[in-house]
Amino acid sequence: MLRVAVVGSGPSGVYAAQTLVQQREVPGVRVDVLDRLPCPYGLVRYGVAPDHEKIKSLQGSLRGVLEDERIRFLGNVEVGGETLTTGRLLELYHAVVYCVGAARDRMLGIPGEELAGVHSATAFVSWYSAHPDAAAAGFGLADVRSAVVIGAGNVAVDVTRILARGAPELRLTDMPEPALGALAASGIREVAMVARRGPSQGKFTTKELRELATLPGVDTTVLPDELARDPAYADPAAAAALPAVNRRNVEVLRDWTAHRPDARARRITLRFFLRPVEVLGGADGRVSGVRFEHTVPDGRGGVSGNGTFEDVDAQLVLRSVGYQGVPLPGLPFDTARGTVPHAAGRVLRGGRACVGEYVAGWIKRGPTGVIGTNRPCAKETASSLLQDAGALARRELPGDPLDALRAAGLAPVPWPGWLAIEAAESSLGRSLGRRSVKIPDWPGLLAAATGE
Ligand code: NAP
Repeated sequence: MLRVAVVGSGPSGVYAAQTLVQQREVPGVRVDVLDRLPCPYGLVRYGVAPDHEKIKSLQGSLRGVLEDERIRFLGNVEVGGETLTTGRLLELYHAVVYCVGAARDRMLGIPGEELAGVHSATAFVSWYSAHPDAAAAGFGLADVRSAVVIGAGNVAVDVTRILARGAPELRLTDMPEPALGALAASGIREVAMVARRGPSQGKFTTKELRELATLPGVDTTVLPDELARDPAYADPAAAAALPAVNRRNVEVLRDWTAHRPDARARRITLRFFLRPVEVLGGADGRVSGVRFEHTVPDGRGGVSGNGTFEDVDAQLVLRSVGYQGVPLPGLPFDTARGTVPHAAGRVLRGGRACVGEYVAGWIKRGPTGVIGTNRPCAKETASSLLQDAGALARRELPGDPLDALRAAGLAPVPWPGWLAIEAAESSLGRSLGRRSVKIPDWPGLLAAATGE
């Protein structure tokens, strides 16, 4: 038997486990999928926006994999800490595949970023997604009238949409009660989503962009002058040369210029060619706005500041400028790329491929792509591991790793524990007159997992 640990139960971890057990060349592969949290599914549970039910429903197919009898889910197991080092993990298994994602947000590196009221979009997403590490974050939104979201990727679109949505729509999601309450009480009327480059260079996908103009009670606008500064907006030949997704985005934004703003409850404005240079503070020490420098295309795909500035009012600023991988003690790390160096998924130590240690997902290739991108990525890694199977299986293991994990003081939450959390969330939802509602804190999750 070849025993493999997959660390991380998000899409890349689940796809890696699936490939390892469903292939035929190496019989008898058994996989333990370990997660620091007692809940599986990684960013599908804690990153995909709660109002994106269709993408969330992917949990159904991930669940099917984790219920395979050759796979064992073990939640509440932190790897890389003192209790379970990466070295110890490798003693317990023939091979380890790290699928730990990219957990940290990136900073802007501008003055004022530390002011109260400035947050990373990832912290905001974690809070409204009920990530147990974010339970204490608490976003007070009652005094916020305008919010600025910096960045033009899909995460920026998600947080912009959630800020603008009304309480009746959010109530239909599995959003935890504290976040729902705060968003329902929010005084937000204006959300500006601000990109430093042009409309043809937005990183959002077209479906997500379009959705912004379909929100009930929300007026979504663009400034035609800003769009016109993009050569690919003004010139059909330049537009034709764009990748399809960017070309479609430009067309969607062009349609929006015909829209006449009306007096709906809330407004989203997409702004372009504005580079953040300073977060401004009020006398109370809280954020009061963001100073942007207008930019112009530099002809090489980038932009440069033109020396004119604009202040945009905001009592809440979310920076949404991408994720970053976090080093795991005991594993090599490329700080410039925020990833673990690898060759076809085999971890590279000092430039040499390690047989026994592998990576897949964002920690392998960086925080890019959609959920489906993880499938071929995980497949490549699993193929490398399977090629090494002969050498790996020669080593005798000390026994069932679960006994060793318990002996080390860990209290793994097995699959039935997760099912108990799911049941507790359904029952919480019923008691609140909602559908399933997520439990947002560690004590609540662990109590539910053990049936307390
Ligand atoms: P992203 O797609 O990499 O977008 C980051 C944005 O931040 C870009 O617009 C970038 O602008 C901007 N930016 C970076 N540094 C900046 C700075 N110093 N000042 C101003 N702007 C700056 O990252 P993401 O939105 O976090 O998304 C991460 C991944 O998750 C993506 O692959 C995304 O598609 C995926 N995701 C998908 C969905 C979905 O499918 N519904 C939802 C959420 C996330 P430049 O382009 O100018 O660098």
